[in-house]
Amino acid sequence: MLWPSAPTLLAPLAPWFEVARRDLPWRAGDLDAPHPDPYAVLVSELMLQQTQVATVIPYFTRWMEQFPDPEALAEAGEDTVHKAWEGLGYYRRARFLKAAAGTIAAEGWPGDLEGLARLPGLGPYTAAAVGSIAFQWPAPALDGNAFRVLARLLLIEGDPKARATDLRVWLAPALAAHGPSRLTQALMELGATVCTPAPTCGGCPLADRCGARRADRTGEIPPVAKRAKPKASSLWLVALEAEGHVLLHAPAAKGLLAGLWRWPALDAEAVPAGRGAASLTAWPGWIQVYTHRRESVSPLHLRLDRRFQAAEGLRWIPIGDLPALPLGKRDQRLRDLLATPGQRPLEAPDPFALIGACAAPSA
Ligand code: SF4
Repeated sequence: MLWPSAPTLLAPLAPWFEVARRDLPWRAGDLDAPHPDPYAVLVSELMLQQTQVATVIPYFTRWMEQFPDPEALAEAGEDTVHKAWEGLGYYRRARFLKAAAGTIAAEGWPGDLEGLARLPGLGPYTAAAVGSIAFQWPAPALDGNAFRVLARLLLIEGDPKARATDLRVWLAPALAAHGPSRLTQALMELGATVCTPAPTCGGCPLADRCGARRADRTGEIPPVAKRAKPKASSLWLVALEAEGHVLLHAPAAKGLLAGLWRWPALDAEAVPAGRGAASLTAWPGWIQVYTHRRESVSPLHLRLDRRFQAAEGLRWIPIGDLPALPLGKRDQRLRDLLATPGQRPLEAPDPFALIGACAAPSA
C-alpha cells in the first residue's frame, strides 16, 4: 500500500467542514466532545442507511419527539414504531432500532466498538459511524460516499470496497489526528455534497492532491456497478369493502414487508377479465419501482354487501382503523386513493374471481 500519509493528505478536510457543514438536526455543535445524545446519532445513522438526508430530516424530528430516548422506543408497540417509520422504506431498520433500544435501555450503552457492532442491525459501518460520531472512538466508518471520495483521491482501480480493510488501516491515524467525529462527518459530507457521482471539483478542498482529478478520470473512478434489470409484473391492488370493514393481509413476521399491513394484490394475468361491475371503482394506475422489481399497479375498490370468510392471513379491519395501521409505500397510495373520487373501470377483473382469491375454501 503506497498511499501518502492520511493525516497529511486529509488535513484540508477539517477546516473545510467547519465552514461547509450543513446544519442537520442530529449534528452536535462541539465536534471535539462526545455527542450529548448518542441515541440521536444511532437513530440518524439507521435512518440514513439507503435514504437521502432531505427525506430523513422530518422523520428524524418526529421520531425524536415521539420516542425521545431508548426507553421510550423500547416500550412502544410494534405497530406504533412501524407507523412512525411509514414511508421511509426498508422497515427492517425500524425493528432493528427498536431491538437495539431495548438492549441499551436494559444494559446501557456498550463500552467499545465490538459491543456496538453486536447491537441489532448495526454491522461494521454503522457501529463505526456511531462510535466515531457519538463517542469519539477512532473507528473508520466507510459508507458509499466515503468510498467514492477515497477511491478518487487515491486513484484506486476497481471496486474500492475490495480495499476496505486497507482503507480502514490507512484512515485510522487521520481520525486520531483531526478528531474522529469531525473527520468522519467531513468525509461523508464531501462525498454527499461535492465529490458526488458527478463531482464539482472546483469547490473541493482536496482538489490539489486528488489522483483522479490529476489523471482526468473522475468520471470512471470508482466504476459504477451494473444493476440487473428489474423484473416486470402487473397486478390488481384491491380494497375489498363490506359492512364498514376492509380486507387486509396481516403483517408477516419476517421478510421485506414484515410488520406492514397490505392490500390483497392479485396477478393481473391470473385473474380473468369480467364486465365492469357497478360496485367497482378504479383509479389510474402507476409503476411501482423496487430495487429488483417493477410493478404495474392497477388500484381497485370493490364494495360488497356482506363480509365473507377470509382466507388465512387476511383480516377484516374496521375502516376507521386504517389510518393508524403501518402500510408500505404502494399500499399507502391505495389507502389515500379511497378518499378521492374514482371511476367505473373500463377494464376490470371478474369481481367473483377477486373474491374467490381472497376467500377461505368452503368446508
Ligand atoms: S477533486 Fe474532485 S474527484 Fe477529487 S476528491 Fe475532490 S471532488 Fe472528488
